[in-house]
Amino acid sequence: VTAALLSGREVAARLRARASEVLAECAAAGITVRLAIVVATADESAAWYVRSLRAATARLGIECEVTELSPSAMATEVSTVLEELSANALVHGIALQTPLPAGLSLAQTASAIDPAKDVDGSSALSLGRLLAGLPAFAPATAQAVLELLDFHGVGVSGRRAVVVGRSVVVGKPVAQLLLARDATVTVCHSRTPELAAVTREADVLVVAAGRPGLITADHVRPGAVVIDVGTNTTDDGSLTGDVDAASVGAVAGGLSPVPGGVGLVTTAQLLLNTVTAASRARLLAS
Ligand code: NAP
Repeated sequence: VTAALLSGREVAARLRARASEVLAECAAAGITVRLAIVVATADESAAWYVRSLRAATARLGIECEVTELSPSAMATEVSTVLEELSANALVHGIALQTPLPAGLSLAQTASAIDPAKDVDGSSALSLGRLLAGLPAFAPATAQAVLELLDFHGVGVSGRRAVVVGRSVVVGKPVAQLLLARDATVTVCHSRTPELAAVTREADVLVVAAGRPGLITADHVRPGAVVIDVGTNTTDDGSLTGDVDAASVGAVAGGLSPVPGGVGLVTTAQLLLNTVTAASRARLLAS
């Protein structure tokens, strides 16, 4: 393996340290910061993420409440919960987990979240503001990719970036953030012919497909930086990415591990967004 390990550990620690500072200011003002998570899926990797968020909020000192809905919940049921949480002054951040019940669109359902509490940047308004270059919370995972690149000194301006995956949670917002940093961005998806020929163009390759082992050495130009967003649960309950780390590690210049890469940073970013939302609410109220 020749690739530098682009670990998320220290990046996440820095984001948590910043979150701690803001949290202390909120505590001094008598505010208990609270994150509400809404889950309507039986998906195992979503459950894994929610468990890690619960643990991370507890460690930092943020209250966390999880509302579990049925994986077959109707759109109105999910929206009603989101509207109630939005109206609750004790809740500062709301994160709606994916996947959603069949037929529900994330951006549309999340539009029931008060934009000021949309700490995972899920609503159509937040996504639209991101596209327009206006201030908004970006989806935490997408932001985490940029934080990881920044921390490890990987510049993207003027470089070729390829994103595999076009979901509104990861692929599209990552592409948008890279574009905003002056990368030349190509987005691939399941209908992209000759995927390897396209991904080999990348100086920076971001993979968010949810397909274990999709990206092998053949897909990577020697020396390219590869960020693996995939979190797939294996039969033994462990996590694996979308990148075949053994073969890609021998050609890439840098590779983020799974676990220990983007996922760690995502959790820390969501905590930081939540305390930021609480702090803004406090300033607005004063
Ligand atoms: P998703 O909604 O299922 O989207 C997957 C995307 O990958 C789609 O755009 C799909 O194309 C594309 N794709 C699937 N198979 C492909 C193939 N063989 N070749 C090229 N493109 C392909 O998934 P998601 O929510 O974006 O999540 C992606 C992965 O990231 C999952 O493993 C998820 O668990 C992980 N994730 C990690 C974090 C974290 O914090 N680390 C957070 C969120 C998600 P089509 O659009 O054509 O179907």
